[in-house]
Amino acid sequence: MDQPQTRAQRMRQPLASDVIAATAEQHGVCVRPFTMEVGDLDTGELRYVPMPCGSTVESQCGPCARKARALRMVQCREGWHLAEEPDFTPDEPTADQTALLELRADLVATYQQAEGADGDELLDEIRSVDAELRQLGMRGRLPNPEGPATRTPKRSTKRRQDAPELPRRRVEKRTLGREFAGRFRPSMFVTLTCDSYGRVRDDGTPVDPGSYDYRRAARDAVHFAALVDRWWQNLRRVVGWDVQYFATVEPQKRVAPHLHAALRGSIPHEVLRAVTAATYHQVWWPAHDELVYLGDELPVWEDGRFVDPTTRQPLTSWAEALEAVEEPAHVVTFGRQVHSKGILGGSDEAGRHIGYLTKYLTKSTGEVISADTDRQRAHHDRLHEELRVTPCSPRCAVWLLYGVQPLGVNSRTHPGRCKSRAHRRTTLGLPGRRVLVSRKWSGKTLADHRADRKAFVLESLAAVGITKPESDRSRLMWQKVQPGDPHQPPRDHLLMHAIAERIKWRAEYDRALLAAQGPPPDLSATTAVAA
Ligand SMILES: [Zn+2]
Ligand SMILES: [Zn+2]
Repeated sequence: MDQPQTRAQRMRQPLASDVIAATAEQHGVCVRPFTMEVGDLDTGELRYVPMPCGSTVESQCGPCARKARALRMVQCREGWHLAEEPDFTPDEPTADQTALLELRADLVATYQQAEGADGDELLDEIRSVDAELRQLGMRGRLPNPEGPATRTPKRSTKRRQDAPELPRRRVEKRTLGREFAGRFRPSMFVTLTCDSYGRVRDDGTPVDPGSYDYRRAARDAVHFAALVDRWWQNLRRVVGWDVQYFATVEPQKRVAPHLHAALRGSIPHEVLRAVTAATYHQVWWPAHDELVYLGDELPVWEDGRFVDPTTRQPLTSWAEALEAVEEPAHVVTFGRQVHSKGILGGSDEAGRHIGYLTKYLTKSTGEVISADTDRQRAHHDRLHEELRVTPCSPRCAVWLLYGVQPLGVNSRTHPGRCKSRAHRRTTLGLPGRRVLVSRKWSGKTLADHRADRKAFVLESLAAVGITKPESDRSRLMWQKVQPGDPHQPPRDHLLMHAIAERIKWRAEYDRALLAAQGPPPDLSATTAVAA
């Protein structure tokens, strides 16, 4: 056998761990699992089990990201053309839940009389009871053990959001659209965009960067999610029923966010257009048009507040600044273009649009916003410059540059430096939550959809004679492996094991398939079953 001669030739050979990762990728096995230590209470046996990382980003873990996207597609499909109202009747509280709640009441009573370290310990205890209650399927919030929070003063009525000029109806408790001709129940695909900030070329860059309204672009991006919320509220009021949606927010070429939504039921295009034109969101924040502090001349922390570096006068507090507000600091509206289209369930077109909606979900926002030319890079730089001085919330440290002390300000606040993603160069103001699903979409959580999938795979396997005995999990202790645990097997070993397991499954299935012909199921959902 020929051995490579030069160092360069040897260097070009792939590393063993790269080959293992590539193989795992091929077999749909998570490439960067974390390790759980599983102890069997009956036998005393201790095993190390790889758990999928669950990443949604393909560049981090292909198999997990593709699985997550597939699940979103299922979720989107199941809710889009639903023909029956999902059932939301809450279950009766269980005995376990009421017992835990009694325990919590006792703990809170003791806590309210306790002092110092005792109190801290009790508070931890209360939090763990709360976590357990949530695990048992309780929704909503429990009263704060510290007593009711002090409320922020009510705003005067003149600062309420103006109601848009739209017809208003009472919203009925139904989420399904109309049926046509006794059998067709079309649903909609809708795209909403931001307003224009100036003409752009095909590559998304402004024709005239000098007049492009970067300030409005930055502010609109920061408040886009709030505008979208208003749109759904307005739409529901106009049509008079509880419209449901599965939507994704993605950047356009010009890097303004836009929204694609699968909307259940059919709504006339004119109604969608009218609601879009009439919807706006007012930002009742202190004005932030003129920077007060620039460069090195920044406010300084002194005696529990920020003061002017020269005069030593304290900066306006958030409450004072808010009190003085006379008009909205910003108003967000949508662009005039509204695309909407009726789509029938189960059609090729429905499938295509689901693919379109979920197309970029395996990429991080930073990967979707790519600049290939100097012109695009300059455009992104300019938008980023504006986002750096655009306050993202009442707690944003950028407020200090405008002479206002944000909410929750403290000695660790750096004027102008806010860690929120709104200001990052990589995401350019695009929101972190890119999939927005209304509460009554499919009547299922993502976990429910995952469980459905697992059940389907097990059924398909059972149909060809393969059954996996459900082992008694109640006698197993699961624990995350502590960093530096000397007994923990290296990742490559875990991957090899998982790949071997997957190959074994596939072989078993193929053998059984010879006996009973049928389409092969997607085995990628079996990781959790096999583990
Ligand atoms: Zn993974
Ligand atoms: Zn911020």
